[in-house]
Amino acid sequence: MKIAVVGGDGIGVEVINEGLRVMKHLTPEAQIEKFDLGADRYLRDGTTMPSEIMERWRNEFDAIYLGALGDPRVPSNVHAKDILLGARFQLDLFINLRPITLLDERRCPLKNKDCDDVNFIVFRENTEGLYTGIGGQFKRGTPDEVAIEQEMNTRKGVERIIRAAFTYADKHGRKKVCMADKANAMRHGHDLWQRVFKIVAAEYPNIEASHLYVDVLSMEMVRCPERFEVIVTNNLFGDIVTDLGAILQGGIGLAGSGNINPNGVSLFEPVHGSAPDIVGKGIANPLAAILSLGMMYTHLGRPELEKKIFKAVQDTLLADQVTPELGGTLSTTEVTDAILVRLSSDVST
Ligand code: ATP
Repeated sequence: MKIAVVGGDGIGVEVINEGLRVMKHLTPEAQIEKFDLGADRYLRDGTTMPSEIMERWRNEFDAIYLGALGDPRVPSNVHAKDILLGARFQLDLFINLRPITLLDERRCPLKNKDCDDVNFIVFRENTEGLYTGIGGQFKRGTPDEVAIEQEMNTRKGVERIIRAAFTYADKHGRKKVCMADKANAMRHGHDLWQRVFKIVAAEYPNIEASHLYVDVLSMEMVRCPERFEVIVTNNLFGDIVTDLGAILQGGIGLAGSGNINPNGVSLFEPVHGSAPDIVGKGIANPLAAILSLGMMYTHLGRPELEKKIFKAVQDTLLADQVTPELGGTLSTTEVTDAILVRLSSDVST
């Protein structure tokens, strides 16, 4: 197991350090190489993402473990764009995988919902849509300014993310896949999604395929999350509805994610950002980073390690051994200590 590690900025560095403690405990044999990338590096020497590092990630590593990128000292966020979007596009990490799993029902903001009710996974397209940067500005800064952002949907790109969702459902005994778009208003690109969805769904007669416009999906995720098992959607909508999902599962500090290329190296990161408001205070919740590590283990063929992490995180939540944003009093390091105690006793039994 050879893992490239980038703490990045702000609390990204803090939570990845905790994830590494868990990694050392569970897989001491893993080879870790840390990369000095992020706002500090950019401000020091202007480097954002050297192409030779991207090539090394592509050729030499089994996975990339990333914290967060974003720093108020770099208002353009150019380094974050080059590193994270650069990796997504250049390493073709076309699946953004976001499990929405409630581990402690007291943390769900919805009334009368338990852990079985909030348990689905979102496949967000990660390389196309509105996030390619295609577009332009005209008469910038004048009252007549025009700004155009183009949404790109390719047949191949749409098909592979929809197929990934069905393949996952099939493999994991999930019975339903719901596709969300806005085809009633976006008649070209999302018509393509509709047609491709029907074609791929027909190959999986045992899986119930349904469609919702994304606005209805948002309402339904709140009203009746239990109706979802697998959701597939485009880049922008996926970005938004998975943040809604993060709140349903108890908060952004509990949301892990994978950026996956099934045929190449993949990247795992907590969903939250660098949180400049709490950096250096020792109160960042490390659980999202630790859950992302679990996802990485499953991806690398060690699902039993993700199960252990999952159980340890759940027990830690149930015991209220949490950081202040979840109402607890523990520090970042103390939460990891609690996880490690559980993992140790788990190993010995
Ligand atoms: P970005 O712009 O990349 O989304 P951000 O840090 O501004 O980054 P979020 O990550 O969405 O935005 O975080 C919003 C707020 O939630 C943070 O400012 C912080 O107060 C809180 N937060 C986020 N992650 C954590 C965490 N792991 N532990 C505790 N609080 C967190």
